[in-house]
Amino acid sequence: METCTGCGVQIALAEADLTAEGARCRACTLRAEVQGHVNAVAVAAEVRRARAVGRRAAAVARGHWIVWGTTVIIFCGVNGARHEAWFAPLALAVLVPLVGLIFKQRWAWRVLAGVDGATAAALFGWSFFAEGDARLLLLFLAAIPALLLLGLVLELRSQRTVQRSA
Ligand SMILES: [Zn+2]
Repeated sequence: METCTGCGVQIALAEADLTAEGARCRACTLRAEVQGHVNAVAVAAEVRRARAVGRRAAAVARGHWIVWGTTVIIFCGVNGARHEAWFAPLALAVLVPLVGLIFKQRWAWRVLAGVDGATAAALFGWSFFAEGDARLLLLFLAAIPALLLLGLVLELRSQRTVQRSA
């Protein structure tokens, strides 16, 4: 006779399942298998969710790189590349967090949220003083950082959910 390591019941050796922890009755083996399956399903779901969030984060980061990278390049060419004093700090304020994104720094997300929000607000405000096509162009340009900001905020929120459930 063997003693089940799960529930302590006496079992004939022929009936016992031998595991790394010792002998186990059929009922305990079944329970362990079900529990193992439930755990595996939960882990797989968590991994899938974390992966989806990671993909979204990469998409939001790429969007910021494309839009702000292009903006900096365009401004670099303005005035025959003779930069005004205000240009360098602004370019750094954008480029430093963009590099931070690559290293998955949370402060980088926050700084870019500020840059997005301020740019969208400035362009939107500017559009009130413009007329006709210029106003439409400014509203269109304001929508770009606004969309980036929206993606970023949704991204930060889903990151927080994953961290809380982990
Ligand atoms: Zn048992």
